[in-house]
Amino acid sequence: MPNNAKKLLSSVVKDDYYVESNGVGLIRSRRFSDEKGIDHGFSTRIGGISAPPFDTLNLGTSRNEPISNILNNYRILCSAYGLDYDDLALVRHEHGSKILRLTGEDRGRGLDREPLEYSDGLVTNDPSVTLVTCHADCSAFFFYDSKHKAIGLAHAGWKGMFARIGQRTVERMQKEFGSDPSELIAAAGPCICEKCFEVDLELGKAFEKEFDCPDILTYGTGSKSDKAYVSLHAAAVIQLLDAGLDENNISLMNHCTMEEKDLFYSYRRDGKDTGSMAAYLKLK
Ligand SMILES: [Zn+2]
Repeated sequence: MPNNAKKLLSSVVKDDYYVESNGVGLIRSRRFSDEKGIDHGFSTRIGGISAPPFDTLNLGTSRNEPISNILNNYRILCSAYGLDYDDLALVRHEHGSKILRLTGEDRGRGLDREPLEYSDGLVTNDPSVTLVTCHADCSAFFFYDSKHKAIGLAHAGWKGMFARIGQRTVERMQKEFGSDPSELIAAAGPCICEKCFEVDLELGKAFEKEFDCPDILTYGTGSKSDKAYVSLHAAAVIQLLDAGLDENNISLMNHCTMEEKDLFYSYRRDGKDTGSMAAYLKLK
């Protein structure tokens, strides 16, 4: 039986909520917040010091904004949420499916120290390092293995989603930490939604084939008949199920980065003159 995106998306929990501390806004998953062994968040544009068009909490180091502003914004985020700035390690994403295992040795990399190797997923069982990924329409995958005290965090643009970066991260956690996929909890971050994510029909069909899911796309009509609209969250859920996760252990942060302009940066909406959100995940 092919996958049914509508059914899958209606059966996984949407448990995100918005919090503000010291004027800095974050999206969190209730399920992840309930776990005592971890701390996590997905930033918004609320808080920070960046001027338009990067207003105001730009956390993307590859944007056309002075790096000092971005590092200041990271300090503001850390101070608002009790994180140690020196513990952060920032992914250098390449829209692929490479995953790095980090240790305390990597603290500071990508911020005040040399960048990490190119990758899109980070895993660790070391509580001294805080994993950080950047996003501007791209989703995030959060993973927690409470039994082996291990975590994974991945950046998932459409290319990474198509390359099953979420599933690859689970496989890496199995290999590195002995994680049992059926015991992992996972959350997918906010991303561009299935109404807004317009692609060429050919790519839409490729998603349908890769995820064996006819309704992962809807077809454009009229002048858009050569286009399709793809659900990245459906692709996320299907690859997590394929990786062996329990449907009850998967949750979604149900926001659209393109539509919710007050909360999120969006590359698709604003082009290169936009900032980035960041996701973070750490063991306590
Ligand atoms: Zn949307």
